[in-house]
Amino acid sequence: MGDDCALCVDAAVFDEGLPPEWEEYLRDEREKTFIGSPRVPLCAGCRPEYDILKSGGYGPVSTDDEAVVELLDDLRLDRIVENHGF
Ligand SMILES: [Zn+2]
Repeated sequence: MGDDCALCVDAAVFDEGLPPEWEEYLRDEREKTFIGSPRVPLCAGCRPEYDILKSGGYGPVSTDDEAVVELLDDLRLDRIVENHGF
């Protein structure tokens, strides 16, 4: 697909959704509003951590979680693909 990972400089091989709680955090803290269902491109190295946090593997999917906030602060927002529904 040619996208770069939203967390590092590698080429993305997956894309993942953005939980509503995370979207809310990015809107409130980073002033970023997404249209449709945003997709987050990720490489093989970054996906597992994203996946674990997204599925609440260390607890609830919450932006009270330091690891989640750290991940969201590392996200390159310009690489997130907005899905306008086609
Ligand atoms: Zn990566």
